[in-house]
Amino acid sequence: MGKVYLVGGGPGDPDLLTIKAYKLLQSADVVLYDALVNKDILNITRPDCLKIYVGKRDSRHTLPQEEINQLLYKFAGVYDKIVRLKGGDPFVFGRGGEELLFLRERGVEVEVVPGITSAVAAPSSALIPITHRELASSFAVITGHPNRGINWADFVKVDTLIILMGVRNRQKIARELIEAGRDPDQPVAFIEKATTTDQREVFTTLKELSQNPPEVNTPAVMVVGDVVGIKKRLETFCKGGLPVTL
Ligand code: SAH
Repeated sequence: MGKVYLVGGGPGDPDLLTIKAYKLLQSADVVLYDALVNKDILNITRPDCLKIYVGKRDSRHTLPQEEINQLLYKFAGVYDKIVRLKGGDPFVFGRGGEELLFLRERGVEVEVVPGITSAVAAPSSALIPITHRELASSFAVITGHPNRGINWADFVKVDTLIILMGVRNRQKIARELIEAGRDPDQPVAFIEKATTTDQREVFTTLKELSQNPPEVNTPAVMVVGDVVGIKKRLETFCKGGLPVTL
């Protein structure tokens, strides 16, 4: 029996891959990868490495989860080193837990290699600190997928909300957060294609988002909280680093 590695591929920039993930990719017999994995990362693999795309983006599932599980199990009987490469971290909305359970139940050895999650990398790379003295001492990472039935009122007191898979649902999320008592003037950021050369940021407020949502492309991380305002403060600094206004 081979060993399956559930590997986090990081948020996008190949340089944000861990050294452990890099080494594993260099020696893997087979790699099964998702849509959000930067394809440049696959160049690290051996020329004879079998590379299989099993990606799913929202509702356009290429392979159902059950088939991915079965494929991993099958490969574990044939190859030594199987890498299951996922965007970000394998256990942040990556269904890594399901694959872990499925394989362990069948006696397959599994190791998890953590990756830098987009939940944290996207705001960081957009110069938005998710915690900040006096402004934010808590953050929550939440799925904004329309089918998950999130009760947004549950999160109203968390300082910084980091929402993944929330682009389609963005207007509804903003409405529900305002209804639940969140300040309508609170700033909101969307960070598209974070840490890649195509990164783009969209800034708005909860109120504007609830009434007239701006265009946002996927994949994007949505950040709601006063810390988003820090970006505005940065703009008041001139290039040399001296504050223009304080
Ligand atoms: N396991 C992944 C998350 C998978 S869920 C991780 O840890 O990052 C998919 C969601 O992640 C997307 O809908 C989007 O909200 C977010 N995402 C992943 N990569 C992203 C990127 N490079 N830029 C912006 N958002 C990203």
